Formats: sequence, C-alpha cells, structure tokens
Amino acid sequence: MQGEKIWLSPPHLGGSELKYIQDAFDTNWISQYGSNIDAFEKTIEDYLGYDSFVTALSSGTAAIHIALRLLDVKEGDFVLCQSFTFVASANPVLYQNAIPVFIDSEASTWNMCPNALEDAIKYCLQQGKKPKAIITVSLYGMPFMVDEITEIAKKYEIPIIEDSAEALGSKYKDRPCGTFGDLSIISFNGNKIITTSGGGILISRNQQLTDKALYLATQAKENRDYYSHSEVGYNYRMSNISAGIGRGQMEVLEDRILKRRENHSFYNEIFKNYDEIDLFAEPNDDFYSNYWLNTITIEENNYQITKEKLKKIFIENNIETRYLWKPMHLQTLFGGYKFFGNNLCGILFDKGLCLPSGTNLTDESKSKIRDLLTDIRV
Ligand SMILES: *Cc1c(COP(=O)(O)O)cnc(C)c1O
Repeated sequence: MQGEKIWLSPPHLGGSELKYIQDAFDTNWISQYGSNIDAFEKTIEDYLGYDSFVTALSSGTAAIHIALRLLDVKEGDFVLCQSFTFVASANPVLYQNAIPVFIDSEASTWNMCPNALEDAIKYCLQQGKKPKAIITVSLYGMPFMVDEITEIAKKYEIPIIEDSAEALGSKYKDRPCGTFGDLSIISFNGNKIITTSGGGILISRNQQLTDKALYLATQAKENRDYYSHSEVGYNYRMSNISAGIGRGQMEVLEDRILKRRENHSFYNEIFKNYDEIDLFAEPNDDFYSNYWLNTITIEENNYQITKEKLKKIFIENNIETRYLWKPMHLQTLFGGYKFFGNNLCGILFDKGLCLPSGTNLTDESKSKIRDLLTDIRV
C-alpha cells in the first residue's frame, strides 16, 4: 500500500457550507425549520425549472417512500421498478407491503427497457391489477429513455416516480433529470455528486402534492391547535444544518458536473486503446450525463483482463473501485418477485466495474491511475 487512499466518490465541500451552518447556529434554527431549508428548496426549484416544487427530506429513500404514499400505493399493489439499481429504489415498495415487479435494462442507457416495461404492464393487467407506479432510474447519472418510457406510461396512465438520486445535473434533450416524473427524487447522500451529509428531495409539479408531502414527512400532523392525526406519517424532514451544507454545495454544482465530465474524458483517453474494455458513455447527443460514476465493462479477452483482476490491482495501490449495482431480481431479498427481460443487467453486473470518479481527484491521482491501467494486458 502506498500514498493516500483514492476513493470512488468522496464528498467535496465548496467553501461556504460552514457559513450557512453558522447562520443556523447564530439564529438557533438548528432543527427542522429555518432559512437554510427554505433557501435550499428555492435554489433547487430555480435550478430545475419546469414548475418544480421541492420538499427537502432526510434521504432519497424517504423521498421515494413519500412518493409511493402520495400515489396511494398500498398492500398488494404492483409497482414496476428498474432492476439495475441500488436497493433504495425498491425498499420503499416493501415498506408499503406492495409487490415490486422488476424490469430489465436496455443496452444504450443501462436503464429501463421499454419493451420489458410493456410486457410487465400487460402481465399485471392480466392479473387484474393496473400497476400503481413505475420507478425509473438514471443510473450512474445517465438519463433513461425518457420519451419511450413516458409514452408507455401515458398510454397505460401509470404515474412515473423518477429516481434521479444519481443524476442531478444530467439532462435529456436539454431538460434536467428530476423534472421527468410525475414525482421525482434526488439524493444528497455523501457519495453523490453533491451532498448535504445525508438527505434528499422530492420534486413535484403541483403545490398541493408538495403540501401533502410535507405533511406526511412531519408525522401527518393536521393543522389544529392541538396534536391531531388521522393517518400514518413519518419523521422525514431535512434538518436546517444539512440544508446549510446543501446551499453551499449548490453554489459549486456546475463546477462539479464539469469535473465529473472531465474525469470521463480522462478515462476515455485510456480505454480507447483497449478493444476489450468499454467505457460506458452517452448513446447520442440527446443524453447529457453528469457522469457521477465512470463505469467500464470488460469483454472476454485473451489478455486475462477481468474485473476481479483490475479490482485487485487497484486495492494493492490503495484505490477504491466497486462492482456495478447487483440487480434487484438477483437479490435474495427480492427472490420471490417477478422479473421481465433477458437479464441484460445481470450480464452487465457480471462484467462491470466502477472507477474512481470524485470531483477532487487530483492530477497526481489521475497519473497514478493512468499508469496502473497502461499495462494490464499479459
Ligand atoms: C443513493 C441512491 C438512493 C437513495 O438515496 P439515499 O439518500 O441514500 O437514501 C436511491 N436510489 C439510487 C439509485 C441511489 O443511488
């Protein structure tokens, strides 16, 4: 082991986060009310545009859970969900005792396959139940096939919950991720493109839904002069301290997106020399990825290059890499649930690796990585 550890995607503070936290301390608004929360929500609403209404919450997972509640997902309901994702996309479906139905990816974006989606909808309809929601994901920052998926959702009148946890700053046809769902979510977990230390937002296009989201996230407390409740609620609001970090981070978002995209160009220079290794990239000009994580897939080859071997080389050099998300339909947790598709996402999982993609990746770290990747054929 040598040198300082190079992480996959560590937090990268901008500079003014402490100022906003200090404001919270100075005014004694250190809990779930205060000007940081209001300003953070407003900043993101302005950034996203398209009549977005934002509710700041304790996590992206909480935001998906609230989205399911807003769509009245209950026990026994079908919810269609991209299989190739982090478990947080699907866990809230189980919180509601609903039934997840998993959908395969297509090859160009690695996100939800329109054909598999339609097959799954037809299956649910045959069971006599229209699915209550479609959870799409923009994995690793790559927008999903927005037009095709939206068309199917409209045809069958099923609302979309857009899990853009990883895709703040990404765009499809110049429109930002986070504005494509009937409800959308973004995560500010520590490993995401910007962070609030932990947190998330729910985005809607409708003030009433946003009011209801806030109500559900604050224990479903009714507006009376005593504590009055008639349905189950949660303690999911973001704190004013976290929102202060978020305000500072929003000031550097554009820089962070450019840095991630520079990382992508850096890897592209390296991997263009290897026929057996594909760097995952935008399929065409309609797609603009924040390249949250750079990922490669390794085809069978005569040089004994495998994801395990690369991972080992990196570990020996104190560099963090990760395998791709293991699809939900291959997880023990979801063993009994239906899956539609040809297991493309399982194949991607088998041959893929995520590479260090932090915005604070130094030139020194990059040359270390470049050196390691220059001589991997045997
Ligand atoms: C990080 C992530 C989430 C969950 O966000 P948290 O803020 O960690 O709860 C959901 N979906 C995807 C695809 C994610 O990567």
